Amino acid sequence: MSAPKRSGIAEHLAPFGTTIFATMSRLAVEHNAINLAQGFPDFDGPAFIKFAAMEAMETQHNQYAPMPGLPGLRGAIARRFERDSGLAVNPDTQVVVTSGCTEAIAATIMGICNPGDEVVLFEPFYDSYRAVVAMSGCVAKFVALRPQSDGRFAFDEAELRGAFSDRTRAVLVNTPHNPTGKVFTREELSLIATLCQKHDAVAITDEVYERLLFSPGTHPHLHLASFDGMRDRTITLSSLGKTFSYTGWKIGWAIGSAELIAGVRAAHQFLTFAVATPLQHAAVRALEREQECVADLVSLFAENRAVMMDALRNAGMTPYAPDGTYFIMADHIALSRRLGLNDDRAFCQFAVERAGIALIPPSVFFSRPELGANLVRLAFCKRRETISAAVERLAALARLAG
Ligand code: GLN
Repeated sequence: MSAPKRSGIAEHLAPFGTTIFATMSRLAVEHNAINLAQGFPDFDGPAFIKFAAMEAMETQHNQYAPMPGLPGLRGAIARRFERDSGLAVNPDTQVVVTSGCTEAIAATIMGICNPGDEVVLFEPFYDSYRAVVAMSGCVAKFVALRPQSDGRFAFDEAELRGAFSDRTRAVLVNTPHNPTGKVFTREELSLIATLCQKHDAVAITDEVYERLLFSPGTHPHLHLASFDGMRDRTITLSSLGKTFSYTGWKIGWAIGSAELIAGVRAAHQFLTFAVATPLQHAAVRALEREQECVADLVSLFAENRAVMMDALRNAGMTPYAPDGTYFIMADHIALSRRLGLNDDRAFCQFAVERAGIALIPPSVFFSRPELGANLVRLAFCKRRETISAAVERLAALARLAG
């Protein structure tokens, strides 16, 4: 009657510890802090979407949905992508509905990669990417995004070329990018497309922030799938959560060629099998009325972004203006030094304990944590009142530096 002697956590997961989102949200509650750490809105999305889910529950849409997703939802996703990208999509074979984009990422890597395959990741990366590559027995190759003189993050072409090899099975591209707010440019995506074709690799694109754009004129969102030669070697992932402010519903999807989606479905059927039925019914309604949902949301976030950029500067930090997403990255090191702090973890610990504001230390998003040590990530996907209160707290934090 003794407990097992070996660790409860499998070796390939042990290095990743507890996800930073759980850790920081717990600290935010503990210290009664404003939570600008985990990225989620502090308000509900449009009410008609919620009512559609209630109606679906009332009308007995409560048993398992079909494994690949409700046909009506797959159709709505296919039509939306056709409109956006100009590519034809067969909803019967080329779409699968997943439990949020996070499951889509996992099902895609597990579904199309073999152990030992290499997967190219840009760092900083959304934390599940690296863990899921490890869970699949694959090898991650990292390419750094670094801030440039124009305040945007970019990668070095030689570094990207060097990360690809004939063992590369896939590259994961998140655009608009969490946590930097970077929107990949046409030139950057063209280079990625060229390398995928040269090395016979698949592109997996995480486009969950595709509608949250702040410079659509100069930095529009582009679908890598629509680049020359990429239609049949790109799996496009997205979700409902960010566009409609229902991050807790966990409705995501993958779109790609029938061959690649067969791989994604092969994994999805054994990971979650199917996604919450009433929420899929509501998702159809949401997508039908997407136009009327997005404009107000983007203008709220654009205002918040401007307010926060100023507040970060006033607090003695150097923010990097995002072209999309929920997030701003800022260099905190000048302020940190005045507070006697050395890195992002120390800064975030101090900010939550002493100033009542929870932020994310981005070093956890790097394979080389030192690349993130001077940075901090802040989420501005909040009500105006929350942003005003956060501005006060950032000012109070700066005053502690004397
Ligand atoms: N995508 C959200 C973020 O980056 C968090 C998701 C999560 O908590 N796992 O903040």
